[in-house]
Amino acid sequence: MSSTPIQFADKILAWFDVHGRKDLPWQQSKTPYSVWVSEIMLQQTQVTTVIPFYQRFMARFPDVQSLADAPQDEVLHHWAGLGYYARARNLQKAAQQVRDQYQGQFPTSLDAMMALPGIGRSTAAAILSLACGQSHAILDGNVKRVLGRYAAISGWPGEKKVENQLWELAEQLTPVSRTGDYTQAMMDMGATLCTRSKPKCGECPVAADCAANALGRPTDFPGKKAKKAIPVRNTIMLLPKWQEQVLIYKRPPAGLWGGLWGFFEVEQDSDIAEKARTLGLTDFRLTEIPGFRHTFSHFHLDIRPMLLELTNAPQAQEVQEQPLLWYNLDNPANVGLAAPTKALFSTLQQK
Ligand code: SF4
Repeated sequence: MSSTPIQFADKILAWFDVHGRKDLPWQQSKTPYSVWVSEIMLQQTQVTTVIPFYQRFMARFPDVQSLADAPQDEVLHHWAGLGYYARARNLQKAAQQVRDQYQGQFPTSLDAMMALPGIGRSTAAAILSLACGQSHAILDGNVKRVLGRYAAISGWPGEKKVENQLWELAEQLTPVSRTGDYTQAMMDMGATLCTRSKPKCGECPVAADCAANALGRPTDFPGKKAKKAIPVRNTIMLLPKWQEQVLIYKRPPAGLWGGLWGFFEVEQDSDIAEKARTLGLTDFRLTEIPGFRHTFSHFHLDIRPMLLELTNAPQAQEVQEQPLLWYNLDNPANVGLAAPTKALFSTLQQK
C-alpha cells in the first residue's frame, strides 16, 4: 500500500461523488430508523431484492413506535421472503427497547447502539455514520472483501484473528470527515466494483495500490473457508385440507422458522395417523405430493408433503400448545409464513 489513509479515503470519496449510489430509498430522508431497517434487511440480501420489501415495511411501520407496537405476526408477514427471520424478531425487540428505554429515540453512542438486539459493531457504526455523521469504521461483507483484497489478506475473515486484522485496517483508513459518504462508498465499491467473482479492477480508484490486483489474482483474497459438506435432514409435512382451508400452526418463537406459521411435521409414516388423531382429523384420504429440498446455511431439509383431504368437517382438536389456524387459500390471513409453507400453498392452489 503506498497511499496514506487520507489519500485512500480521498480516492474512494472522489469515486463515490461520480459513481456512488445516492438514490436508494433509504438514502432519501436518512434517520437512524430508516438506515437501521435497511442495514438489517441488507445483511443477507441484495439491494434490488430489498427495495420493494423496504418500501412495504416502511409504509406499514414508518417509525420505531409503530414497529414496537405491532403484532409480531404482522412484522414477520412483512418480512416473509427475506429469510433469516431472527433478523425481524430482533428488529422488533430492538424497537421495543428504543421505545421503552430511550423514549423512542435511538441512542447515539456506539456501545449503546451495539447493546440493542441484532445490532453488531459494523451495523451500529453504519447507522451512526450514515444517519448521524459520526466517524466509525464499518466492516460488513462487502468491506471485508474490498479491504481483504486491497491488503491481500489470505486468511478467512470468519476467523477472529483475520477479522481483527481487517478491523484494524478499516479503522486506519476511515476518515474523520465525510464518514457517512465514505461508509456508503465502501459498501458501493464492494457491491458494484470489487464484486465477489468479477472485480472491475480497471475502473477501481485504488487499483494502483491494491496488493491483490498487483498479484494479478484479486479473487483469491480474502481467503475462503474450507468447504465441508452440509448434512441432510428429512421431514414429513402434514397438509390437512378441508375445502379451501388448510391447517397450520404457529411455531414456537425460538428455533427453525421461529414465530412463523407452518405445517405440522412428523418423522415417519407410522406417526401420521396418531398426529392426525390429536388434531381431530379422522376421516381423510392420504396422498403424497411431490417433495422438495429446502436448503439452510447449515443443512438441507428434504420435505415429503402428505396431503390429508378431509372427507368430513374437522372435529375439535385436542388442546394444543401452539395456536392453530385454518388458513383459507382463497382469502389469505396476514401471518408470517415459512418459505416451504408458501411453496406448498401454491402447489395446493394448482391442484
Ligand atoms: S483493484 Fe480490484 S481487487 Fe483491488 S480493490 Fe479495486 S476492484 Fe478490488
